[in-house]
Amino acid sequence: ASARRTSMLFGPVSLEDREESSLTSVNRAEGIVDGVEGTIGNTPLIKIRSLSEATGCTILAKAEYLNGAGGSPKDRVALNMIQEAEEQGLLSPGRGDTIYEGTVGSTGISLAVLARARGYKAHICMPDDMAIEKSDLLHHLGATVERVPVAPITDPGHFVNLARQRAREHTASADTPSRGFFADQFENAANYAAHMKTTGPEIYAQTGGGRLDAFVAGAGTGGTIAGVAKYLKEERGLGSSLRVVLADPQGSGLYNKVRHGVMYSPTEREGTRRRRQVDTMVEGIGINRITQNFEAGRGLIDDAVRVTDEQACRMARWLVEHDGLFVGSSSAVNCVAAVVTALKMPKGSRVVTILCDSGARHLSKFWKHIAEMGLEDETQEQDDDLFTVLG
Ligand code: PMP
Repeated sequence: ASARRTSMLFGPVSLEDREESSLTSVNRAEGIVDGVEGTIGNTPLIKIRSLSEATGCTILAKAEYLNGAGGSPKDRVALNMIQEAEEQGLLSPGRGDTIYEGTVGSTGISLAVLARARGYKAHICMPDDMAIEKSDLLHHLGATVERVPVAPITDPGHFVNLARQRAREHTASADTPSRGFFADQFENAANYAAHMKTTGPEIYAQTGGGRLDAFVAGAGTGGTIAGVAKYLKEERGLGSSLRVVLADPQGSGLYNKVRHGVMYSPTEREGTRRRRQVDTMVEGIGINRITQNFEAGRGLIDDAVRVTDEQACRMARWLVEHDGLFVGSSSAVNCVAAVVTALKMPKGSRVVTILCDSGARHLSKFWKHIAEMGLEDETQEQDDDLFTVLG
């Protein structure tokens, strides 16, 4: 079944082919891809020169913002979840089905694009503290958007619970043959499976057959870190020679879970309302509960690095200034953690991380804050010391 699923994702590709290319388009020889789905995957692995020079290691970043459907690694996940649901008959294009999802944005955008491309509707529930450009984009893509107040996961009004409920209501409705499908990225194993099938094999191939010493990534659902770690450590046998490091923003409970085995989340325990999902301005990573996707890779994570919002802002600015890379907040967190990891490793080590999405998705919050901090002020002398970024 797993080989079959491999062939379903991104068209026919044998396990032997995977090393060379995880994404086999219809007419690769001519460079033609089949629809928007064909623009997903095979993203470049960028050597970040400034961070490599500053650390004495090679810092490599997988440019996931170049995925061509929704501009994030969630394209891979959304496509795999949809294809699995189609295989199982849970989604059928001719029936007028709707995909429901609870998301902080990226997965919703990928699902909304792919829904349009494959004949479905999309209904997205998201917390109302996420950057407005994400919900605007969803509207333009024709999705129904419900922005809901931030609530604990125990609350039926939490964006994930609401999406599940909406899918149920749709399917139960007697006056329509169409179905509601709850994609459920947090608990759906098709999420980390997408990274086992594509992101992991691509990183393996792009590093000349697994020549990397560390993989650093944040976790929102945990799908990326679990899928890549499982592929590299288990399927490719890199095991303990590869250090897998969680990059965790301030306010998230995962850092303590990885480091000390307990989740520090007093507000969650009390079940009280918090102002934000996680007390950070970083979007997409950091969480205060253990999801099935995170659990799938938890035993393979060797360490965690906590990153403050200020460090993330300084890193984002550094990447524009030195490398011309304009990234979002989770990418900046990943790069801070990659640098912290590299500084603890022997010189010359190779550290791979992820650039999740573009800064353009974060203009109204993260980048506005960076400007307000005065980091973009031309009259201020730019600090060229990476340790200023690390604080
Ligand atoms: N960055 C961004 C911008 C995201 O939206 C997400 C997913 N929520 C992630 C990173 C984290 O990916 P994952 O869900 O695979 O842990």
